[in-house]
Amino acid sequence: MSTNESNNPSDFCHDSTEQRILVGLSKVSLALKSQSWQDAGRYGLSPTQVQILSLLQTKGHEGMGLSAVAEGLAVTPATASDAVRVLVEKGLVQKKPSPEDKRAIAITLTAKGQQLAIKTACWSDLLLDAVGELSELEQTVFLRGLIKMIRKLQEAGQIPISKMCVTCRFFQPNRYPNSDRPHHCALVDAPFGDRHLQIDCPDQIMINSRD
Ligand code: SF4
Repeated sequence: MSTNESNNPSDFCHDSTEQRILVGLSKVSLALKSQSWQDAGRYGLSPTQVQILSLLQTKGHEGMGLSAVAEGLAVTPATASDAVRVLVEKGLVQKKPSPEDKRAIAITLTAKGQQLAIKTACWSDLLLDAVGELSELEQTVFLRGLIKMIRKLQEAGQIPISKMCVTCRFFQPNRYPNSDRPHHCALVDAPFGDRHLQIDCPDQIMINSRD
């Protein structure tokens, strides 16, 4: 073997741009995981428990069933059940009959859980600063790329469907071509640009939904 050859897999596994993007994303994901453990730990919770508070916050008084919580977080029903049990013990969530179906149980936030959900929803300055390193144009291109990747993974069933503009009944893409705000949100009847494409909009209604 010449001195230029190597047995180190990292020397030839990451040589395509696609692979290097994935390596980069895995490094960012490490920072996100570590930060979410720190943030959740500050309140004596696990990241899964914090995610449940955040998910329930989007549902208001209606709440969610246990299977919907598990599906929304892409965890097993047993994991969701354990996390919800701890949140009930801490007085952060409650179980009550669903307003839609009295035989079903809806999980909702208590007033204390609501307050904590708001506090834990804030990203740390460290992560925001890292995103702030990107210029406005870079952020817009990155956001578009992320939305494409998320959509592809959702279609493949690898991650839960989230409430994005691109899957929303109210989204009218490129209604105003050649404008800096080419898209239209029919819900608020206003144009908007790529920079404001939503990934988790509380008002989103899925295309083809019968709601
Ligand atoms: S309702 Fe929300 S998700 Fe739907 S198009 Fe408007 S901003 Fe996007």
